[in-house]
Formats: sequence, C-alpha cells, structure tokens
Amino acid sequence: MATQTQKQSSSTIMARSLDTDVQFARGVGPRLAGTLGKLDIFTVRDLIYHFPRRHEDRTRFARIASLRHGESATIFGTILTADNVKTRGSLVLTKVAVDDGTGVMELTWFNQKFRKDQFLKLKGRRIVAYGAVAAGRWGVEIASPEWELYSEDADPLSSGRVVPVYPLTEGLFQSQVRKAIKGALDTYVPLAQEILPEDVRNRLDLMDIGDALRNIHFPESQAALDAARKRLVFEELFLLQLALALRKRGMEMPGCGISFQMPEGFSDELKMVLPFELTGAQKRVIKEIAADMGRPTCMNRLLQGDVGSGKTAVALAAMLIAVRNGYQAALMAPTEILAEQHYLGITRMLENLGVLEVSVDLLKGSLRSKQRQLVIERIKSSQTKIAIGTHALIQEGVDFHKLGLVIVDEQHRFGVLQRAALMEKGLSPDILVMTATPIPRTLTLTIYGDLDVSIIDELPPGRKSIRTHWKQTGERKKVYQALRTLIDQGRQAYVVCPLVEESDKLQARAATELAEFLQTQMFPDYRIGLLHGQMKTDEKDDVMKAFRAGEIQILVATTVIEVGVDVPNATCMVIEDADRFGLAQLHQLRGRVGRGDQQSFCVMICEGNSEDSMRRMQVMSSTNDGFTIAEEDLKLRGPGEFYGTRQSGMAGLKIADIFRDIPILELARKEAFALIERDPDLGHPSLKALRADLLKKYDELQLAVVS
Ligand code: ADP
Ligand code: MG
Repeated sequence: MATQTQKQSSSTIMARSLDTDVQFARGVGPRLAGTLGKLDIFTVRDLIYHFPRRHEDRTRFARIASLRHGESATIFGTILTADNVKTRGSLVLTKVAVDDGTGVMELTWFNQKFRKDQFLKLKGRRIVAYGAVAAGRWGVEIASPEWELYSEDADPLSSGRVVPVYPLTEGLFQSQVRKAIKGALDTYVPLAQEILPEDVRNRLDLMDIGDALRNIHFPESQAALDAARKRLVFEELFLLQLALALRKRGMEMPGCGISFQMPEGFSDELKMVLPFELTGAQKRVIKEIAADMGRPTCMNRLLQGDVGSGKTAVALAAMLIAVRNGYQAALMAPTEILAEQHYLGITRMLENLGVLEVSVDLLKGSLRSKQRQLVIERIKSSQTKIAIGTHALIQEGVDFHKLGLVIVDEQHRFGVLQRAALMEKGLSPDILVMTATPIPRTLTLTIYGDLDVSIIDELPPGRKSIRTHWKQTGERKKVYQALRTLIDQGRQAYVVCPLVEESDKLQARAATELAEFLQTQMFPDYRIGLLHGQMKTDEKDDVMKAFRAGEIQILVATTVIEVGVDVPNATCMVIEDADRFGLAQLHQLRGRVGRGDQQSFCVMICEGNSEDSMRRMQVMSSTNDGFTIAEEDLKLRGPGEFYGTRQSGMAGLKIADIFRDIPILELARKEAFALIERDPDLGHPSLKALRADLLKKYDELQLAVVS
C-alpha cells in the first residue's frame, strides 16, 4: 500500500528533504506544527522518527465479559452514561459506563470533574479505551484509561486495523498524529537515506530503512513490525557504538601512551609487599592491566570489584609497574578520609620493601602551605614516586616530573572526563578508574562503552556474608541492646544517621544529636565518635585514627563513610531511616562492615512506608551481591538517573530499550567496533551518509573523526 503512494508523489518530492520544516508536511500547517514543537518535532524527520509507544489491534477487541483483573486490555463499546461520585477524603471520582454487548464496565477518573459533562455529551457514541483492568466493586473497571472516539467512516487510519498509539502532548490527538505521520511517510520516506552498510544489513538480515519506517508506524503484520523495530533499534545502537568506538580510538591514539615493561622479579616484589595471597580474580585482573599498560597506547580501563574485593592491592600492583619503569603514579580518592587511608595502607605495605624503597607522599588540603610546597616540590622533582590525594592532585597547579599512571578511586566517569584536561597539559598517562559500584552489563556496554573493563568477581577467602536485618523504628531499643552485646565482645560499630538532604549543616546537626543521644542515653560507658562533612580535616583524621585504634567503640557518621573506609574490627552497622537511601548507597554503606573474618551485621531501621522502600529493604536483606543490587537499582531508578548518561549519548535513544535490547546492543557493538577497526575514519564513499548522521547526532561526544 505504501509503494503505491510512493509512486504517486515521486514527481513532487524534488525540492523536499527530511529536514523540511514540519509545517509544510501534508495536512500539518503552522498551528499543528506549533503543538508538535512541544514534542520536539520540528522537521519532517522528527515527525517520522516520532515512534509509536505501542500498537493496538483494532480488528480484535477484548470482550468486556471476559476481562480479567490485572491484564491490560483495549475495549470497544458504546458510552451509556457518566456520573461523579464523592469518595472518602473528598476526592471526586468520575465513572463512565461503557457497554460492548457482552457486558458493561466502568472507566474512571480521579478529580477530573469536567469529565462528567464531557462524556454525557458523548452518550451513545462509540469509544475505544485502553488501560489496566481492575476488579471493581460491581464488575471490572479501568482507571484513567487512554481513550479515543471511534468512527470507521471518518477515520480509517484509526479503525479496523492495527493502529499506532503515539506519545501526545496537551492539545494533540492520536488521530491528528496518525494522519500527519501517514502523510509524511507517503511523501518523504522515499527520501530517507540508507545509512547502514550493506554487508551489515545482509549479515544480520535487517530491513531496509524505508520499509522499517513504514512498518514501525503502520505495520503490515506483527512480523513486519518486529523486523522494523529490530532494524531501527539496531541503527540507533549502532550509531551509539560507533561514537563510543571512535572516542575510544581517539583516546588511544598511538604515540600518546607509554609501553610499560613488566619489571624483573615483579611477582616476588608484589609478594613481599602484600600481607596476603592474591585471590585468583586479583591475579587475573593484574595481568589484564599489566598487558594493557604494556601496549604503546593509553590505557583507559575500568576496574570493577564489589566492596571489599581488594581493589587497593590491584592498584598498588599497577603503581609498582609504573614506578619500576621510572615513572610516577598518582592515586586519587574522592574524599580526604579515603586518601588518608590509602596513604596509611600503602605506605605500610611498601615499608616491606626495605632498601628497595618507593617514596609515597600525601597531598591533602589541610597541609600548611610550607609543607604543601615541599610536597609539590618533591612531586615536581620526581622524588615522590607515588602521590596520593584527592582530585586536586592533578587539577591545581601540581606538576609531575614524569607521570605515567593515574588511578582514580570510586569516581566513575571522572577519569575519562579528566583525560582531556591531562592531554592539554601535555600528559598522556595510563588511566585506571576503580569503582565499587558494580555496573550492570547494559551500562558497561553503553555509558562505559569506551572503556576496557576488568572485573574482580571474587572476594578474599574467609569472608562471611553480612547478615542484614530490617527493623521497624519501634524496635530501635532492642537493636541497640544487641549492639551492646557485640561491643562487649570487643567489636566496633558504625551508626549511620538519617540523610538530611537540605543542607550539610543540618546533616551535621542530625549526626551530632544522634551521637549525643547514644552517648548519654544508650552507651554512657562507651566512647562514641562523630564524623560528618562539616568537621575540619584534622578533626576527621583524629576521629578515624581513634576508631582504627579501637579507642572509639561506636562511630556515628554521615555518608562521609560511604566509600572505602576500611576498619576490619568494625563488624556492625546500624543505618537509621534506611529508606532515605538508595540501593547503591545502602550497599556501599554496608560494605564498611564484613571486612574481617568475624561475622558482621547490618541493621536497617525504618518503617518502609512505600512500595519502593520496601523493595529496597527486601533486596538488601536478601543479597550481598553487588551486581544483583545494581541491576535492581537500575530497574527501580531507571537509567536516566545514572550520571554520565548525557555524555554517553544515551539521552538520544528514542526506540532502543537498553534492558530489553541487550542482544541487539551486543550485535551493534560488535559490528560498530569491527567497522571502525577496518575503516577508522569512515572514509569509504559508501559510508558517507552514515558518517554524516553520526556527526550530526554525536557531535557532543567530541568524536575523533578526522573531518
Ligand atoms: P575495596 O575493593 O573495597 O577497595 P580493599 O582493597 O579496601 O577493598 O580491601 C578490603 C580488605 O580486604 C582490606 O582489609 C584488604 O587488606 C583485604 N584484602 C584484599 N585482598 C585480599 C586477599 N587477597 N586476601 C586477604 N585479604 C585481602
Ligand atoms: Mg577501595
């Protein structure tokens, strides 16, 4: 059917293009164009790429008599009557009765009084309604349905066929959009350029672009719809993966990297330094990193390992390789507490080297200016081999003599974003980004798709899984009694105070009050410590020192302890108002315990008033596995909440669903990376349209395509 119209209009399409202003599309005009603008539809291309949310088969409707609670259904019937009913809590409920010959049901709306008059005027008209069916008191109902009046003669695009249902905006109707899109398809689809390379299309059996665009809107069959969707999803993900492949390649430009050699006797030296045997996973990951460092291109690697999996040892190994090759290494942490702890841990381990000494320096904000100057001088003259600090380390006028490796702890995209800044300074060190927030596969393939990934998927031996309990606020006293038992046995504990989002000041006050309460009311015989973001660095250091030394039994803290803090004797954590925290954050917090060989506990206190918070409590109580938690987190929050989403270009995905479409995502990735391998500039004449589209869409990713 589409081919016919295609022929008809082919004589008039000469001056047109997909970039034509949408108001000039058949049957649109300035007024409708204005409304479409609210949906970011400005050109004919935008209109054609405004994909349906779903399709409705209007050749077969569900029968009201056989509707079942819980299913989603489209019904078709006659409007009988409408009425408003007051509910408890003074809400107004509009009920509209619809009859389809097999039975009568209600469509309902909350607090939209005007619906009554609207539907009374439509009495006797026929309506199509879609939504989730629920068992009401007198039969089935659909609350807040999507609906349209139905008239076969007036609107053949909306009746007697499989009909697309579009995202709308105020003042816009399904029938208008259908008509506008159908018109645009007929006239403009012949102008759509095929951008997918022919060999890729053949290999994967992908529909051509014209058929795909027609069938995604007005499918000839379910199979054609599936094929159209697959093709368009593939195209979107293929472009994204090309962008990532190009960016990766841009960062890897030969000549920018250092070819580190494996130092002689490296594994012996590592054994000397580390107080434990490496796990198999640690060994494997160190090998991957060493191989990557050995290549003459810049390393851009993401090291993932659940909390407590031993990433510090891996970082140390990488730094030793750099140092033994005559380079300096920098280790950057997100907080001073963490930088300090890395400094303590790493100097302690490196002391085992004796005369083979490697000098380590900590650059922190609280250093007096004279001392600070001294450290900066040492870094500049290369006396410092390993420099540890916060991100300020490579940001504020610190010059390295010979920086070969940068390790970024617990800051996902930071390393990548920092690459540009480093290159501007003429530096091109290898970069290793470490994260304890396991990243679901969907995201390693997209947001992090330009990085190589190493995963530590094994915990050091002897770890007992943390026992996690969810308790109601009324049980708080009992929780603290249990805590006492553990402390009497010599253990230490964290109490995490409720999250106050408004300000750091209020957060600090909440922590202070909680600490006072525990000290005076619950544990007068113990020493309670306090740690929050408003304290001076020195004060924080003192508290952490005392806690590590076991002089403080209970540390009341805000989320400043979220990442990295490592005190193995602390085996218990109480999280107050736990439902204020997200899953990833709870998992990170809990990761502060379970770091030694003692059984550890985590108690989350909250009511769990919403379904969402209950779900989080259940997930936390049922698993210690960071990957499972990350997947759940992603499901609960949606990918938009993960930062870095914009830079990754994921905001531009219109049809692909990165959860559902993982298989296509993997295919697209394989094909895209292979293509860039073969033709790094996409210079082949047959790729001209592809290249143009890519540049248009992913300009913001600063592709390294030579133009
Ligand atoms: P994370 O991956 O969370 O940064 P850390 O590097 O802080 O983990 O290590 C967590 C704890 O496990 C530390 O106390 C560390 O000394 C210990 N550890 C790391 N690797 C091993 C190992 N292979 N065997 C035993 N203990 C280990
Ligand atoms: Mg760590």
